[in-house]
Parts: sequence; structure tokens; C-alpha cells
Amino acid sequence: MSSFAPELQTLQERLQAAKRITVLTGAGISAASGVPTFRGDGGLWRNHRSQDLATPQAFERDPKLVWEFYQWRRNKVSHCRPNAAHEVLAEWSRHPDGFQLITQNVDGLHELADTRNVVRFHGTLWELSCWRRCPESPQSWEDRSDSLPPLPQCPFCGGLARPAVVWFGEPIAPHVLQNAAAALHCDVFITIGTSALVYPAAGLIEQAAREGAYTAEINPEATPASRFVDLPIAASAEKFLPLLEKFRI
Ligand code: NAD
Repeated sequence: MSSFAPELQTLQERLQAAKRITVLTGAGISAASGVPTFRGDGGLWRNHRSQDLATPQAFERDPKLVWEFYQWRRNKVSHCRPNAAHEVLAEWSRHPDGFQLITQNVDGLHELADTRNVVRFHGTLWELSCWRRCPESPQSWEDRSDSLPPLPQCPFCGGLARPAVVWFGEPIAPHVLQNAAAALHCDVFITIGTSALVYPAAGLIEQAAREGAYTAEINPEATPASRFVDLPIAASAEKFLPLLEKFRI
């Protein structure tokens, strides 16, 4: 029997009774796939803190450096595969009426696991957008090439292109906020693998609790959310989620 037996039983009962389930994921769910988190080991790249490169100010100052960081991340992620935790959520998403996933991750691993109903809160590494947001360009365009030039260009105006991810200090697109807000009307809200430090994403957990959802957290480390969720579970996602499936009532 797993050492998580009480947590497993409680969460299974809640899930069983729930009509609507929403899951919020962060970098921790992809850690077992080999994608570095921002705050754990591997959060440094050439002695730069990842958080210091993922900003519009860093790009304004040195676009080549920021693009080198993103080319490194794209290259690393392109060798990563979804893990057992992504697979369980993908399976849940095949009952789309009652399931919604909001991810802060930009790695595309949920999509690779064939997860439906994904709200990409912070964009994706696999799309680019125009740095100057020229009127000719769409909001973003897909580019999965593994050999981008050192300074990719906007194909519409010839200016600089940037990764279509939301950087620290940038606003979330209104339609994404709307979709996330709609997903908060749920019976069970589970937050998985996020440090719950980056707003507004972290605020979704508090908001779901305020709206009456039963809240659970799956994270081996305590976070600010651990104090107020109904069920904090100190476990890694790739171990706990498959147990939840295995011991399904
Ligand atoms: P974070 O790096 O701040 O925190 C990661 C959290 O995952 C930590 O609380 C850690 O304890 C937990 N964790 C580590 N291993 C885990 C495991 N096996 N199972 C469950 N949890 C585990 O990440 P964040 O909260 O997502 O915020 C950083 C922001 O940076 C994100 O919003 C995202 O946009 C970006 N980011 C994305 C990726 C990605 O796409 N994979 C990776 C790093 C950062």
C-alpha cells in the first residue's frame, strides 16, 4: 500500500463526486521529463538566472543573448518526452466536458501527450511573434525549426521576432484570462508542480478556493499555496498521479 494512502483516498473520493475538474500545472510536472525548472537545480544558464533572461528588458538590452537562451531551451525540450503525470492528465482530458487544464508551461509536453482543452497561460516555445507587434503580423506563428538564425526575423515586417511566451512583467492576453477564469468554476481544482510565486497564475489557486472548489496541491516542496489548499500532498507528480489512476475507485 502506498504511503500516500489517506491522501489518495480523499482525493479519489472528491474526484469521483466531481462534475468539473480543473488542473493547473507548472514547471515541476515536466521536471521528470528532463525540462529544467526555473527555481530548482538547472535554473541557471551560463550563470544567468533564467528569470533574469525571461523579461522584455533583457530582450531589449541583448536580444542575441536571450535568443541563445531560448534556442538552448528549445533544443533541450525537443529531446524531452511527456512523463507518466502528463499521460494521466491526457487521459482525464478525454472526458472533455468536465475537465480543463491550465498550464504555465511553455514546453508543449501536454500537447505532445495529446491533452485536450489546454489553456496555455504563458504561451509556447514553439511559436514566435513580432517584437514590435507590427500590424501585418498575426499574434504569433508556429516555428518548430531546430536551426533558427541567431536573431530570427518577423516575416511580415523584417524586424526582430521573439519567442511567443509571456515574460515576467508582461500581461496575460485577455482571452487567455477569460478562459482561465471560466475554468475556475469547478468542483475540484488541483495545482501541480508550481512554486505558486508567479502571478497572476498563482492567484488562480486562491480564486478557485474562494469560488468554492475543493483544492489540492501536488508538489514535493511546500509552497505559499500549501498553507491554504484543502489537501497539500508532498509528492512528485509523476509518482502520485499514476497512483491516483491505479487506485481509482
Ligand atoms: P518554478 O520553477 O517556479 O517551480 C517549480 C515547482 O515544481 C517547485 O515548486 C518544485 O518544488 C516543483 N517540482 C519540482 N519537481 C517536481 C515534481 N517531480 N513533481 C511536482 N512538482 C515538482 O515553476 P513555475 O511555478 O511553473 O513558474 C515558473 C514560470 O516559468 C512558469 O510560469 C513558466 O512560464 C516558466 N517555465 C516553464 C517551464 C516549462 O515549460 N517546463 C520550465 C521553467 C519555467
